[in-house]
This record gives sequence, C-alpha cells and structure tokens, in this order.
Amino acid sequence: MSNTNQNPVRVRFAPSPTGKLHVGGARTAIYNWAFARANGGTFILRIDDTDPTRSTEENTQVILRAMRWLGLDWDEGPEAGGGCGPYFQTERMDLYREAAERLVREDKAYYCFCTPQKLEEDRKAAAERHDSFQGYQRTCRGIDPEEAQRRAKSGEPCTIRIKVPDDRGDIVVHDAVHGDVTFNAKELDDFIIFRSDGTPTYNFATVVDDASMGITHIIRGDDHLSNTPRQVVVYEALGAPTPTFAHISMILGADGKKLSKRHGATSVEEYRDAGYLSDAFVNYLALLGWAPDGETTIVSRDRLASEFSLDHVSKNPAIMDPKKLDFINAEYLRALSDAEFAKDILIPELVSAGLENEKALRHDDTWYELAASAFKPRTTLSKDVVAQARYLYTDDDELSYDPKAVKRWLSKQGAREALDAAADALAKLGEAQWSASAIEGALDPLPNALGMGKGKVFQPVRVAVVGSAASPGIGETLELLGRESSLARIERAKSLAA
Ligand code: GLU
Repeated sequence: MSNTNQNPVRVRFAPSPTGKLHVGGARTAIYNWAFARANGGTFILRIDDTDPTRSTEENTQVILRAMRWLGLDWDEGPEAGGGCGPYFQTERMDLYREAAERLVREDKAYYCFCTPQKLEEDRKAAAERHDSFQGYQRTCRGIDPEEAQRRAKSGEPCTIRIKVPDDRGDIVVHDAVHGDVTFNAKELDDFIIFRSDGTPTYNFATVVDDASMGITHIIRGDDHLSNTPRQVVVYEALGAPTPTFAHISMILGADGKKLSKRHGATSVEEYRDAGYLSDAFVNYLALLGWAPDGETTIVSRDRLASEFSLDHVSKNPAIMDPKKLDFINAEYLRALSDAEFAKDILIPELVSAGLENEKALRHDDTWYELAASAFKPRTTLSKDVVAQARYLYTDDDELSYDPKAVKRWLSKQGAREALDAAADALAKLGEAQWSASAIEGALDPLPNALGMGKGKVFQPVRVAVVGSAASPGIGETLELLGRESSLARIERAKSLAA
C-alpha cells in the first residue's frame, strides 16, 4: 500500500530502552524510515521509556548509536527535536494524565476502586461459572461519577478504566499486511488505561502519543496485533482518527523458533562489531519480509528509500539466514573501489588489530590499494583482511607454518627442487622490477621446465612466504611482501622441504 491516507505520511519507531536494538526492532525501524522516505513523509523516533525498572539511559544511547550506524536518520526525536516533543515518554506524563482525566470527564472512562483481591475473586468466580467472558466485571462502571471523583480526590487507590462501548460491535483492524482482522469487542474488558501508581499503560500512552504526534501509519512487529483492538478503542474515545496499521512478521531462527541468543548474534551492535557493513546489513534486513520483486538481493539504501511499499511486505515469518547476510556483505565489499576498500576497510582493520599505527602507516597508498585488490575478493567480513594480511606483518624468521600445508606441499617430494628453482628465478628480478606481473613472468616457465604440475611448484612457494596454502595470486602475494622478505622466506622454507 502506498499512502492512501490523505495526510502527509508521519511514522514513528518507538523502541523501549530495556535492552539493545535487536534485529527485529532494526527491521521495524528500517521499514518505518523507508516508508517515510518513499512517501516524502516524516520519520519520528520516540523513546518508550515508561517502564522504570527496565529502561536505562545507557540502553537509550545504545539504541541511538545503532540507529545512526544503520543510517536511519530521524526527522523528529531525541537530539533532532521537532514540534511534537518531548520524544521521551517519561517526559510526557502530564499529557497522559490530562488525557485520562478528560476521558473520565467525558464519561468515556471511569475510576475503578477494585482491589487486586477483589479482581482475583471475581476472576475465579467467573472461571467457576465457566463464563465465556472472564475479564473485568465492570464493577465500578456504575459508581456515580461525582462520588468516584470525590473518592479519587481523597486519595483512595484507584485505576482508570476505559469504557468499551456496549454497542461497539466487532473491531475490524484494516492491516496493510494482514488484511482485515476482526476482533470481538465483547471480549475486551474495560481495560486499565491509568494505573494506581499514576502511570499510563502501554496501550494508552502509545495512542495518546501516536494521536498527538499525528502518526498516519503504524508499522510494528505483529506481536502487537493483539493490542491493536484496545488501541482502536482508545483512538475512538479520544476522538482521534485511527491510523493505518501494518504489522510485520517476527524474525525467526533457522529452526523456526523465535530469534534468541541460541541462534548467535541478535543485536545490531554485535553485527557491527562482527564486521558487517551498515549498507549490507540494512539491505539484508529490508529483504527479510519485503522485496521489490522476486529475485533482487541487492537493494541499495536509495532504492529502498524510493521504492519501499507496504504492498510487498510478507505476513509470513521471516527466517534469519546468516549465509545470505554474508553473501550480501561480500557483494558490498566487492563493490568498493580498491581505494575505498583500502581506506575504509583494510587500514582501519589493520589499525584495530594493532598491525598498523594510524599516524605512521608503513606503506604508501599504492601498496594498500594493491593489498585491497588482492584481499577484496576473499573477504566476507571486514575483519577477514587481518588474517589475510598477517604474513605481511610478521618477521621473516618468525613466520609460523600451518602443519597441514607443510605436510601437503613442503614435505612432498619435489618441493625442494621447486623452491630452489623459484628462488633462482626470482633472484634475477631486481628490486625495481619486483611487481606481480614480473614475478608471474619469472615463475610461469618453471612447471614445464621442471616437469611438474603448477600446484607442485607454486604451492610450496606460497606456503614458504605466507605460512599457509591460501593466498591471493602468487604474483600479488610476493609483490606485497617485497623482494627481500620473499627470498629470505623461500630460503628458510628449504629446510622444511623434502
Ligand atoms: N515500545 C513498544 C515496543 O517496543 C512500541 C510498540 C509500538 O510500536 O506500538 O514494543
């Protein structure tokens, strides 16, 4: 669905700062952001911090950082400001109280003085009678409003309950993802909107905010679908237009169970720290439940921001697929130019691994770009470059050899001959000629000359200089290491070779 609402699109992402930003929340945020951008609307970030026992300032900061890393810029909200603030629910308490009291005055809500014991007794009695309705028995609905006011004012503990109108009939939620979902209003009890401790319930605070912030579309996880009929009742009581709802599916692990720690990383931070690129991660999450068409796997942020629509959001649960995420990340890395890869991926990773000092890099730009072009095709996660580059940051006589690679390539017959021939051929190249193409030119004739397969010649050389059997092309591998070290390492490996 594009925007069928007449008003300019206003959407919000409303995380509770009770933990880190998880992948499910991140995808909800992405869909809200993309829907706002695709419709020229406004994206609002609101912090639902009314649960004082679980909300922390630290979690709020973690969420804001994650939002920034994801590149989901918000138009209104913390730090951005805006005309509908404040954007923290704890700073909006007066609004909730005023709204609840207004509903009481308008006879759309009422004070309830039932004690927890009384409610429990009523519930048990209804269960014993096998009543089809086991919710609140509306005990306090009939109290004379003036008397109720007086009792509430005198400090008698009370909650405020909304009056679900007797004639309300079915509540049909027109959901942009699930279609029309019908709820029987008779099954809703007169639920609490304001607790006896002076705090609003989620279903009330969220509607007061969404109404006063002019939210036109509510895009959120479908764990909230069951709350929606109650929220519709609140909109109607407040006399506010009901927004369009879009409840998006849960994200499940590969075993079909709700995503949890057992499945690996769940928070945005963990993915960031594991070396995923923000663009790739956003692309991957956006495609968990939405696709511009059946095939596309690479959807740029710009495309998302222009083409996202609720029409193509699936109501089936999305399954987390780490292999697809890796594939997409590798694609984004490959799309970087060598210069970008060197500057944004390689050098920062080498610095954070302690192999380079940011202020005194060991090589020139050309060298890093060559390294970038060599490593890029073999990189899935940014930090993969560290293992690949390690041989370049090891002293020649401290290089350690992978025992399997030694067994397979150096202890085999002919390895010594191959190393001798390679050393001779390479020694003929001077320092100034030391380039990938010249190195390959020098080594290429050897298999024929020695009557050996290519692997038998090049692999011992590779193991000798890298310590393992995997590396980019032999020319680039040796060029990056330099003439002196390459020759020294081949010499040293001779003692291991058969
Ligand atoms: N703070 C709620 C949550 O994190 C918001 C739900 C909603 O979008 O209404 O679940």
